[in-house]
Amino acid sequence: MGAIKMIKATKTHIIGAGMSGLSAAVSLIKTGHGVVLHESAGHAGGRCRSFQDDAMGCRIDNGNHLLLGGNRAAYAYLKDIGAEDSLTGPERAEFHFLDLKTAERWTVTLNAGFLPKAIFSKAGRVPGSRPIDYLRAFRLAWAGGEATVAQCLGPDNALFRRFWEPIAVAVLNTAAEEGAASLLSTVMRETLFRGEAACRPLIAKQGLSESFVDPAIRFLEGRGADIGLNNRLRGLNIEDGRVAELDFGDGSVALDDGDTVVLAVPPPVAAGLVPGLRTPGEFRAIVNGHFRLERKIEGFSFLGLNGGLGQWLFVRGDVASVTVSAADDLAEKDNASIAGRLWADVALGLGLGDVPLPPHRIVKEKRATFAQTPEQEKRRPGARTGLKNLFLAGDWIATGLPATIEGSIRSGRTAADMILSFMSS
Ligand SMILES: Cc1cc2nc3c(=O)[nH]c(=O)nc-3n(C[C@H](O)[C@H](O)[C@H](O)COP(=O)(O)OP(=O)(O)OC[C@H]3O[C@@H](n4cnc5c(N)ncnc54)[C@H](O)[C@@H]3O)c2cc1C
Repeated sequence: MGAIKMIKATKTHIIGAGMSGLSAAVSLIKTGHGVVLHESAGHAGGRCRSFQDDAMGCRIDNGNHLLLGGNRAAYAYLKDIGAEDSLTGPERAEFHFLDLKTAERWTVTLNAGFLPKAIFSKAGRVPGSRPIDYLRAFRLAWAGGEATVAQCLGPDNALFRRFWEPIAVAVLNTAAEEGAASLLSTVMRETLFRGEAACRPLIAKQGLSESFVDPAIRFLEGRGADIGLNNRLRGLNIEDGRVAELDFGDGSVALDDGDTVVLAVPPPVAAGLVPGLRTPGEFRAIVNGHFRLERKIEGFSFLGLNGGLGQWLFVRGDVASVTVSAADDLAEKDNASIAGRLWADVALGLGLGDVPLPPHRIVKEKRATFAQTPEQEKRRPGARTGLKNLFLAGDWIATGLPATIEGSIRSGRTAADMILSFMSS
């Protein structure tokens, strides 16, 4: 009989339990690969999470997150973790808008097939727009790497101000005057240009954590992943072109041959850990105001707002939440004045009349996403690094997509695929 050979299972250490790290972990563990997850916070989810708010007496999300039917990687991830039924949305791809100054309302309706038929009737068009304005959408398809959204689609017409600009600011979290048209173009190719079903808006039925985070943690724990919260990576010890040790300050973890690392942390953290790594260095804020209503509102999902401070209004049960993207200036203001102004928009949007400010919470995410400008887009690195067992994931990796849940999930999957092919090479 030959000698028994001890085979040591290799594993991947994933640093950061946001959507990118969770996606990498789920993709790897599905194949039977060992996973150890290290998260610096006391909870998973990163910038996409829910929490109990004592002032409001209920759970809220850090910010409204909208997905679209065409977000295929996000849907596949939810299916993997058994949460594919945890999103909800209107049955048709309809986007309702209200101009808070003029009280005009309009709906952008998308149909099966590429061309929205509604644009051929005045009632179906955005007020003030002409059918010819819609043809500008084709310019997105040829948008070069330097073009901004405003250069492509605007800025001098009602369709731009009342549809493209709010959509672009929501998608890119960057003003249309500086936002990269190429990124909006990718989203449009995967949604608008695919027809109605790919444009259907979706939100979490209960909360972001209940959809994207908690089921993933259960899935990972059920398959033997080792998950460490309050575990901040402080440094990488590098030897012979590979990560040899993870330094957590109060202890370190030596890596075995064949072990790999996915760094799924925000860009400034990654840049501080990996020598010579170039990352996006500019960020944009998102401010969300959450308001506890006196009673539940049924049948209202979300509404685009023009002409006020709030840009998108969402209602889930008795919580109304309003989002302001590309909100760096606003994020510097005090919470009381933000709450008063946003509540005025919510009350108008919901037709509540003159009602006093209810229990509320203002959440400022000052570094909600990197600034999605042509210049910052060029600073997004690939998932491979110069260190042979170190891979990157994050919404700021060069996915070709904006910094979104879909982009994060794809980045995690890409890192996992690279590790699996690295293991088999
Ligand atoms: C207010 C807001 C609204 C948004 N709206 C939308 C939307 O409508 N639709 C959409 O698709 N996307 C939206 N996004 C974007 C989406 O939330 C992000 O793209 C996504 O959550 C990013 O996930 P990530 O894993 O790449 O990064 P993160 O969520 O930042 O995860 C990184 C993780 O790493 C951890 N970490 C950091 N340093 C260390 C360390 N040294 N050691 C260990 N762990 C560490 C952090 O604690 C964090 O958990 C929104 C974001 C915000 C903030």
